[in-house]
Amino acid sequence: MSSVLGTYARKNISFSKGKGCYLYDLKGEQYLDFASGIAVNSLGHCHEHLVKIIQEQSKKLWHVSNMFVIPEQEKLAKRLTDYTFADFVCFQNSGSEATEASIKIARKYFHTIGQPNKKRIITFKGAFHGRTLAALFAANNPKHIEGFDPKVDGFDQVPFADLESLKKAITNETAAIMIETILGEGGIKEVPDYCLKGLRELCDEKNLLLILDEVQCGIGRTGDFFAFEKSGIVPDIVPIAKGIGGGFPLGACLLTKKISVGMTPGTHGSTFGGNPLAMAVGNGVLDIILQDGFLDNVKKISKYFNRELIGLKKKYSKIILEVRGRGLLKGLKLAVDNAKFIETLMKHKMLVVKAEEQVIRLFPALIVSKKEIDEAISKINETCKEMS
Ligand SMILES: *Cc1c(COP(=O)(O)O)cnc(C)c1O
Repeated sequence: MSSVLGTYARKNISFSKGKGCYLYDLKGEQYLDFASGIAVNSLGHCHEHLVKIIQEQSKKLWHVSNMFVIPEQEKLAKRLTDYTFADFVCFQNSGSEATEASIKIARKYFHTIGQPNKKRIITFKGAFHGRTLAALFAANNPKHIEGFDPKVDGFDQVPFADLESLKKAITNETAAIMIETILGEGGIKEVPDYCLKGLRELCDEKNLLLILDEVQCGIGRTGDFFAFEKSGIVPDIVPIAKGIGGGFPLGACLLTKKISVGMTPGTHGSTFGGNPLAMAVGNGVLDIILQDGFLDNVKKISKYFNRELIGLKKKYSKIILEVRGRGLLKGLKLAVDNAKFIETLMKHKMLVVKAEEQVIRLFPALIVSKKEIDEAISKINETCKEMS
């Protein structure tokens, strides 16, 4: 019997090494990894540049407290703010912490500017913001919250893509609207650009902050650095995590100068957040992702991937109902049980991730090659054939 608390329904398989888009189990069997640790291994497994960086940094310095200036942290924050809408970055260790920091920052802003009644955050059904208490009740997924009451107050939830309900939910206590630019766990559901624009306008009109959770869809996953970029809007606060660490636990919250006013010394903290080792890896990930042409290549390969997936949908229209998502954040909505589909795909030595609405999520590393896409399509094809 395992001594690990049974909070996961784990598949009975373990891996001993990984390289690029492949994982190798204990017997040395090769798996095509389109799970990427749930959109975490953005540069694939054991990317040479990251291996080198972690080796070098591990000989210099691992951890010092945030009571000191950390040059690697200054550098990563500078690069993130130079490249994005943000003026400041606050480093955490995970996505949940990053979304919770966003909530704190939004509330503190209104508190500081003399509108302390504005405390509540509007969220959407089907959302996922993490498993810590506030993040849990922010998303309010019935499967996740059962037994964990008392409920953390301060969130008002409305249905996804229902403007009327959203407008009705806004009161003079509302501080912010928080939404994933593309719902990940919820089944790869995009918030269309016109809705993002609408949300921005609504927030401006009602004096609310817009928090876009890009923990899953950010850091190049869609072919843009952030999924919201294409819409042309500017959010106020953006939590990130998953892909920025390339496999090293790293989260952050990005925000504008205007919103930062209340976040003075002592108002937030993290023992580990932003330590030199994590920051070295984060900088290493950016070294690659921000290289000239890297994201163009993600866009190019993802167009090919999308075309091939649509081909499969046409061929197996009784199995694949819909191709969802953007860039290398793709979902297939299935007419069959997604868990069964994933089992079958695993027999063909390919790994993917489950989501709501019978969706499977496909997260190839951003360095995926055409050959690896072809291999994935062939394995999905075999699986569809078998399940027809
Ligand atoms: C994964 C995820 C989180 C939580 O991240 P953890 O690192 O597991 O705490 C939050 N928001 C979104 C959109 C996510 O996909």
